[in-house]
Amino acid sequence: MKVYKFGGASVKDAGAVKNVAQIIKREQDTMVVVISAMGKMTNLLETLVRAYFEKSVKKWEIFNQFRNYHLEITNQLFDNNGMPESVLAQFAELEMKLKRNPSFDYNYEYDQIICFGELVSTQIVSDYLNFTGISNQWADVRNCLRTDEMYRDANVDWGLTEQLVNEIFNFDNQRLYITQGFIGSTIINQTTTLGREGSDFTAAILGNVLNAESVSIWKDVPGVLSADPKKMDGTVKIDSLSYREAVEMTHSGAQVIHPKTMKPLHNKKIPLYVKSFMAPDEPGTVIHAIDHKIELPPIFIMKENQVLITLSPKDFSFISIEDIDRVVNFLLENRVKITLMQQSAIDLNLVLDAPEADWEEIFSKLSPYYTIRYNTDLVLITIRHYTEEVLDWMVKEKDIYLEQHSRLTARMLVKQ
Ligand code: ASP
Ligand code: MG
Repeated sequence: MKVYKFGGASVKDAGAVKNVAQIIKREQDTMVVVISAMGKMTNLLETLVRAYFEKSVKKWEIFNQFRNYHLEITNQLFDNNGMPESVLAQFAELEMKLKRNPSFDYNYEYDQIICFGELVSTQIVSDYLNFTGISNQWADVRNCLRTDEMYRDANVDWGLTEQLVNEIFNFDNQRLYITQGFIGSTIINQTTTLGREGSDFTAAILGNVLNAESVSIWKDVPGVLSADPKKMDGTVKIDSLSYREAVEMTHSGAQVIHPKTMKPLHNKKIPLYVKSFMAPDEPGTVIHAIDHKIELPPIFIMKENQVLITLSPKDFSFISIEDIDRVVNFLLENRVKITLMQQSAIDLNLVLDAPEADWEEIFSKLSPYYTIRYNTDLVLITIRHYTEEVLDWMVKEKDIYLEQHSRLTARMLVKQ
């Protein structure tokens, strides 16, 4: 069996959904298809979560925006017959949720609402496929993808998930399942999510526990590129990559695939294809187990919106393991991810994705122990397989805040 994953851009309007149906139709094998929320609906739902949590009446305006976006798509897909019953039921459930008062746990409420992007999109695609004669079963992945209670960044319970996934996706009477990326649930059936852009990870989890022959991620780019074509000229597509290379690239900020995708596939040697939904006949990029060295061009990755935070112990003591432990745990609790860490005698430098919440306030909790300095609006440039020539060219006329070189990777933090 195979796993396909389609992201938001591939289902952003009725035409895109029809194109996805064409791609699914080409495949005769047993298959699980993982789909994200349509277009930018997750971003819209984030504003809904905020309005709901703040008990603002704006929530109804946003709810209507969310509904109308899908209504336009279903009108085009189902010959102006409006929304299928199954989709209406999802909206009714969301509406009921919005009528109730929120709890005091923002992360919990976030997951209970954000999941509707995926629930609605998969329901629409599944209904549309059945409507056009591509028989399939819609499956609620929350019945089998089990996690802990770390809302918004949940950790998979692999043992339970493996057992339940194989029960639900059993292929007894079905060749094709349509299910959600990004979401899961706790053992007491509370919805959780795997972190933004987590649908790729869902595809890899399902691929792993179902022992898929391959996983394919369908994108709006021809495959993995040597740099982001919007930011640099002369990018080339890379035909083949090792899991290791791919994990380094994506962890550094290459947005083509979620970094957590690689481990479950690597562990079972399942190849990952990154292909264009605009050109399904093109080979794309394959990420797989390669035992020989492949020559790669310099690969450029820019991670924007970075913040440099420098912590120095107030009593002038050296940075110790206890300091690192305290700071790392503090960041974990506040769901802040470290991109890069560097220490000197009395400075601990942290490069972070700028947290969406008021992070100066968050960090002020560390101020009893440390003097804290900030630099904002930075970009972390990573160059894999760098050459001296490329480095010279890159650093020209740039203010470098922090630099780190290893055998294969050069990193520099510069002003945005
Ligand atoms: N819809 C979710 C997001 O936009 C998950 C995903 O697209 O992978 O973050
Ligand atoms: Mg998305």
